[in-house]
Amino acid sequence: MILHDDEFGEVIVRRNTLSRGIKFSVSTSGRLQMSVPAHTSDFLAKRFLNSNRNNIRSKLPIKDPETQRARDYQKRLLARKAKEYLPYRLEYYANLYGYSYEKCRLTHANTRWGSCSSNKTISLNIGLMKVPEVLRDYVILHELAHLNHMDHSKAFWQEVESHDSKCKYHEKKLKQFSPGL
Ligand SMILES: [Zn+2]
Repeated sequence: MILHDDEFGEVIVRRNTLSRGIKFSVSTSGRLQMSVPAHTSDFLAKRFLNSNRNNIRSKLPIKDPETQRARDYQKRLLARKAKEYLPYRLEYYANLYGYSYEKCRLTHANTRWGSCSSNKTISLNIGLMKVPEVLRDYVILHELAHLNHMDHSKAFWQEVESHDSKCKYHEKKLKQFSPGL
């Protein structure tokens, strides 16, 4: 359930049969999250929120509702752009260099730009839409090379390098960016 609070914006309320007390935390999107016992009424949840306002304000890194909304909007925009671009770019390079993968998945993990699973699914982070094209292409080529080498061995890097002669430089350059928003 979502509570609308004037100060904290959308508050996520999770009813949990296992929880005994009420616990506050911050969700991955920066929203306030309350975990309450299964039978807690909305009224009681609100009352508890009110009586803990000071505590929450001083202890939890909650984003203000405006920031949250801006962030959500950015994310939707990025996801839309990514959907219209990344699968096609991946397909393009796969065809160009003769790779075959099972499917392309778009993710929004905060730590990795891409991955390649043993069942040949290539995951690409929607945050790639924020980095220069040359780095975006590098990530795609890196993941495609993982179809042949599931490690970062010398042979793996040689393969990436055969498609992107500056791959090591691009790998370093990519560290200046973060996949998260
Ligand atoms: Zn890798």
